[in-house]
Amino acid sequence: MKSEFEIIEKIRGQTFSKSIKTGIGDDCAVISKDSKTDLVITTDMLVEDIDFRLNWTIPEYLGHKALAISLSDIAAMGASPNWAMISIGVPEKIWKTDFIEKFYKGWFALAIKFNVNLIGGDLSRTPDKIVIDSIVAGEVEKNKAVLRSKAKPGDAIFVTGRLGGAAGGLKLLQSGEKFEISQHKNLLRRQLQPTPQTEIGRIIGEKNLATAMIDLSDGLSSDLNHICRESNVGAKIYADKIPIARNLKNLFESKNNQTKKDKKSQSSIKSSSPLTLALNGGEDFELLFTVSRKKNFQLEKSLAGKAISRIGEITSDADEIELITDSGKEILQPEGFQHF
Ligand code: ADP
Ligand code: MG
Repeated sequence: MKSEFEIIEKIRGQTFSKSIKTGIGDDCAVISKDSKTDLVITTDMLVEDIDFRLNWTIPEYLGHKALAISLSDIAAMGASPNWAMISIGVPEKIWKTDFIEKFYKGWFALAIKFNVNLIGGDLSRTPDKIVIDSIVAGEVEKNKAVLRSKAKPGDAIFVTGRLGGAAGGLKLLQSGEKFEISQHKNLLRRQLQPTPQTEIGRIIGEKNLATAMIDLSDGLSSDLNHICRESNVGAKIYADKIPIARNLKNLFESKNNQTKKDKKSQSSIKSSSPLTLALNGGEDFELLFTVSRKKNFQLEKSLAGKAISRIGEITSDADEIELITDSGKEILQPEGFQHF
C-alpha cells in the first residue's frame, strides 16, 4: 500500500500559475499577493476516532486544537495568521447537543488571542463520525516565507519548547486516564489543547533568522527528515540536547514502579521511553528550524527569553539523520505519525 507521503509526492508540482511561489510540499502554500506581501495558506483535517476521540476531550479543546494545528503551519512559514475558514460535519446525535456551540467557544478563544478572523466555512451532516476541516491564511513580507528546502550543511538545528508531551498525553489517554480527575493534566493538555508557536514563528520570519523551518506535527524524526529531504542535506542531533517535556520522566518512573494493578496502562507507558516519545511522538506543535552560522548571534538576541534549544547540526550526508547518544551513534529512522 502506498504511504501518505508517496501520494503527496505524486500529485505535487502540477501547478501552472506564476503567482504560486510554493505549492504542495511545505507547511503552507505561498502565493504572491502584491509587491510587498506574500499570502500563506494551509488546510488540516481532523477525523473522529482517527485524530481525536470524543470521550478523551471536550468540544472546547477540539475547537481550540482545530485552529491551533493550522496556526502552527502558518508559524512554520515565519508568517502571521489573519483569516480562517472552518467546516464541520457532524452526525445527527451530535447536532442535537451543544457540541457545535462549545466547539466554536474554544475556537474563538484562541482566534481572539491571535487576531484571526473567521471569514467562512461549512456545516454538514455525516452518517456517523465528526469531520473537521480547518483553513487558515496569513501574510508574510515578500520573499520572507521560511521554506523546508533551504537548510545548508553547517546550519545549527533548533527546536522551540519541550518535546514528547503530546505523545505522553496520548499514551495516558489510551491507557484510560480521564482528564477531569487526572493528576497529569499538563501532559494531557499538550495533546488536547496544543499551543502554536505563533509569536516565535513570526519573529523568525520577520528577521530572516532561519534557513528552513517546519512545525513538529508528525514527530521530530519525521519532520527533521522532511527538512533533510526537501533541502537535500542530512542532520546530526544529540540525544542529551533534546528538551524532553517536563513531567514525562517522572510519569514514566512512577508508572514503571506501580504494582500490577493497572496492567494495560503499565505496558503501554513502559513501551516507550521519554526520549523515544520526544524523538518520534507527534503533535507537539513546536517549531524545528535551522540557522546559519552568521545568524546565530542575531537569533539569540531576537529570541532572548524564549524557550529554544540547539539540538544539532545540518550535515552534507543527504537524507541521513544521526543520533548521538552516550553509547555512540545510530541512524535515526523517521518514525513519526502517518495516517497511511
Ligand atoms: P502538515 O503536517 O504540515 O499539515 P502535511 O504532511 O499534511 O503537512 O502535507 C504536506 C504537504 O502536502 C502540504 O503542502 C499539503 O498541503 C499537501 N497535501 C497533503 N494532502 C494533500 C492532498 N490530499 N492533496 C493535495 N495536497 C496535499
Ligand atoms: Mg506542518
